[in-house]
Amino acid sequence: MPAPPPPAAARSGPARALERLGLSTPEALALHLPLRYEDETRLTPLSEARPGETVQVEAVVQEARVEFRPRRQLVVRLADEVGDTLVLRFVNFYPSHQKTLVPGTRVRARGELRGGYFGREMVHPAFKVVQGDTPLSAKLTPVYPTTAALPQAYLRKAVASGLQRAALAELLPPGVVPAGLPTLREALQFLHHPPPDARLETLEDHSHPAWQRLKFEELLAQQLAQAQSRQERAQLSAPALRARPGGLHEKLLCALPFGLTAAQLRVGREIAADLAAPRPMHRLLQGDVGAGKTVVAALAAAVAIDAGWQCALMAPTEILAEQHVAKLVQWLEPLGVQVAWLTGGRRGKARDRTLEAVASGAAALVVGTHAVIQQDVHFARLGLAVVDEQHRFGVAQRLALRHKLKSADAAGGLEPHLLMMTATPIPRTLAMSYFADLEVSTIDELPPGRSPIVTKVIADNRRDELIGRVRDELAGGRQAYWVCPLIDEAEGDGGAAPRGGRPLAELRNATETHQQLTAALPGCEVGLIHGRLPASEKAAVMARFKSGELGVLVATTVIEVGVDVPNASLMVVEHSERFGLAQLHQLRGRVGRGSVASVCVLMYSSPLSDSGKQRLRAMVETTDGFEIARRDLEIRGPGEFMGARQSGDALLRFADLAEDAPLLAQARRVAGGLLAAHPEAARAQVRRWLGQQVEYLKA
Ligand code: ADP
Ligand code: MG
Repeated sequence: MPAPPPPAAARSGPARALERLGLSTPEALALHLPLRYEDETRLTPLSEARPGETVQVEAVVQEARVEFRPRRQLVVRLADEVGDTLVLRFVNFYPSHQKTLVPGTRVRARGELRGGYFGREMVHPAFKVVQGDTPLSAKLTPVYPTTAALPQAYLRKAVASGLQRAALAELLPPGVVPAGLPTLREALQFLHHPPPDARLETLEDHSHPAWQRLKFEELLAQQLAQAQSRQERAQLSAPALRARPGGLHEKLLCALPFGLTAAQLRVGREIAADLAAPRPMHRLLQGDVGAGKTVVAALAAAVAIDAGWQCALMAPTEILAEQHVAKLVQWLEPLGVQVAWLTGGRRGKARDRTLEAVASGAAALVVGTHAVIQQDVHFARLGLAVVDEQHRFGVAQRLALRHKLKSADAAGGLEPHLLMMTATPIPRTLAMSYFADLEVSTIDELPPGRSPIVTKVIADNRRDELIGRVRDELAGGRQAYWVCPLIDEAEGDGGAAPRGGRPLAELRNATETHQQLTAALPGCEVGLIHGRLPASEKAAVMARFKSGELGVLVATTVIEVGVDVPNASLMVVEHSERFGLAQLHQLRGRVGRGSVASVCVLMYSSPLSDSGKQRLRAMVETTDGFEIARRDLEIRGPGEFMGARQSGDALLRFADLAEDAPLLAQARRVAGGLLAAHPEAARAQVRRWLGQQVEYLKA
């Protein structure tokens, strides 16, 4: 009778290590691909082996002994049939080595050949004992990524067995997979056990058809998942919100102190068309920092409100939410719209009254932080939700938003429209892959009259000079931001994730800088704002800076997004090498918002890392948000663009968007048709490749 399997707790080390690597199913094992291959299919005669080459040789042990100089080691001398010799050295060895490697034993050793003083040798080669007729392996030997607890040999066996057992039936009907690619099973078989004549370069650079097949499978699954979620959304109903001639929307347009840019008008039309349809909009509005997204959102809100529905606008920080409220109140209250304001900081009676106004529908526009979607906030008739700087919201908040939108069906199963906004543009390849379920509108032009921002990079030993520069700016009636990465030496400041691992004490902190600038700039009020101030104080400081009472604002990255003070013309960023590219671009976007020429000074301390240099160079070379995003993608890979999709699991494992644009295009071409004609196959494909991760792929 077979022994019962050991309970989970008693599993051996390697078995547990397999599980920890996520390799608990045959399919997962089959998809665990080799890092590289070793060639054990050939023997190199000792006389032909060159020093520096990794070779497999075969010879017979002549002598084995332990030497003690220069340190304790097992030294094994071998000779082949024609008398060429080789020494194997083992500094770490077990008694079993000594027992095995006795004179007369035939050994097959694989390792790097060295031309030692006393002749050829190998240090710590892989070896096995063979007979004269032991066959060579017919295939290249895979070397898998693994951990210390999981020996390569164990993993090889596990993968080989997984590959045998895995369910790898072809799911796709003919014509879908690009011509010339192997079946999935053939592809995996090849990648795990390539024949000796396989071109290793094409395996290493992933251009081999076997690799192409895997990449295509994965990209197709992703496209199908996105197409599915579009399809699901298309079945939902939403209120059809049409702009009335002479309605609130037009009144707001007339009341604005500026005319819209052509790009704003165009995205406005795209949004209006979505709102007018009886299906929920799911649109991302992207536009560089300062492009004027807020007013586009306000116009969309006006359409919704005019049609008798409520609009919620959510911003990632209180400072930003506060700014939106100020602006929207200024724009919309004169037109008779009641604007309510909700943040996490507000409690008590005032909040209760606000909640009442939201629940009764009296508050037509509700602005705030994620407090807007808390459970106890009930909307009478939510028709449109706007999420500003959507990439700044975390997974939990997005899920909460989705839940809120789903449950906002007080009016009979209607789901609100959703407009997301971001100043971090999504590079085209990402838009086509991870974000393929969104409609995207782009504002690709700045309002007229902005003068370009000049960016300078300087070493932090020129600080005093820089303070002189601040003084000049103030004398000209302008204002300046001075951004520091951390608020004090004890603790980080939320968003201001410093890069690198230098002691925090080395960082010049905001409080210290505040004191220094106050002393150096007599006659000027210097403000200080950081994440740990209570909301009301933050708001007060911002208001004083906005009114011009404060000449300089020392800040952490709490001012990173959305803050809008057109009179500020100088942005100083300390330790700029510690910020990400998108973050620097956002910070720079705080100046150059009026017509005055603006300067952004990026201070750094040496030595700069390579990627630090790349980031600062990118900042100097371009102010174009799309170009910045493209370079950011190059420097950091796609992870950082994902927001909720950031979960590493949801990322592509095999495909590489930078290289695989043609495959991506092909997957896009076939996904729609496949989903329509073979919905079952499409679902199976998504399940096989994405499993549980599908949820994360949704916005
Ligand atoms: P962002 O796209 O970064 O959110 P904002 O909506 O904050 O940009 O707009 C930046 C500034 O430009 C604001 O002061 C806004 O009122 C102003 N603005 C927006 N559109 C125009 C326009 N068409 N002409 C002039 N100023 C505009
Ligand atoms: Mg904005």
